[in-house]
Amino acid sequence: MKILEFNDRGQQVENDSGSLTRTGSTSHLAARPALRVENPHRARVDSDIQLYMFQTGTLRTKTKYIKMNQGEEDFEIPVPWFLIKHPKGNVVIDGGNAIEVAIDKRAHWGAVIDAYDPIMDVRDNCVDQCLSVGVEAEDVRYVVQSHLHLDHSGAVGRFPNAQHIVQRSEYEYAFDPDWFSAAAYIRADFDRPGLDWKFLGGEYTDNFDLFGDGAIRMIFTPGHSPGHQSFLITLPNTGPVLLTIDAAYTLDHWDNKALPGLISSAVDAAHSVAKLHKIAEDTGALVVTGHDPDHWKTFRKAPNSFYD
Ligand SMILES: [Zn+2]
Repeated sequence: MKILEFNDRGQQVENDSGSLTRTGSTSHLAARPALRVENPHRARVDSDIQLYMFQTGTLRTKTKYIKMNQGEEDFEIPVPWFLIKHPKGNVVIDGGNAIEVAIDKRAHWGAVIDAYDPIMDVRDNCVDQCLSVGVEAEDVRYVVQSHLHLDHSGAVGRFPNAQHIVQRSEYEYAFDPDWFSAAAYIRADFDRPGLDWKFLGGEYTDNFDLFGDGAIRMIFTPGHSPGHQSFLITLPNTGPVLLTIDAAYTLDHWDNKALPGLISSAVDAAHSVAKLHKIAEDTGALVVTGHDPDHWKTFRKAPNSFYD
């Protein structure tokens, strides 16, 4: 099997054995390459890049399922996903829930809806929402996955010309999750025929730069799931935007007042928040948390508005 990996400069590294190719280091705990954003507002990104913030409805749940051990009261959270228009191609990040959730949620998600009840209209699916801002399914070049939980896997296999990028550790875990995470992975969403997958290698490929221009970087942030990643988007006018995704569900999680209700490692989850804080401080990024209902209200929403 031929594995495609990327080094820290985003250069492709081919490896026939399946073992990870490292560049320039022999230590297992190789230092993470520094994130080079000297002056993010002057980063040489193309002037024609837009970030659209969408959601596939909401999940009705309880506080304790979002903020660990914190209350039985009802809590309704948005299910965000993102589209980036870039001169080198359109990029979908996550895609929210799959369209099947809007048609028959119990058939598609099973008993998990008793804890996380999705409120989604068929028109909320990511393919139709792309059309609402003029992007045809055929014109999406990359589907990039933060992780493969069920509220993030709605774009996989829905864009016929797209390469799908995910952390290899997340992809492998999704097929064989531990018992406490199993309900969060819907195999029908990601185990689909004919997909073009590219796998990233955790710390070894950290800060992977999708187009080589600093516009879209992938930050390895495990803890919520084993292969979770966040995104640092650098826009020509807005500057840096840090999409924590589920490395920080809410501002409470961002502020170290709560852990998310579902984690694979509390230690990694806490370290990933610290890592993102450092990036936010270094770059002055606008921080977008994963599922905070109040925080989410403060951002410009597609299709009517976007960030450029
Ligand atoms: Zn999520």
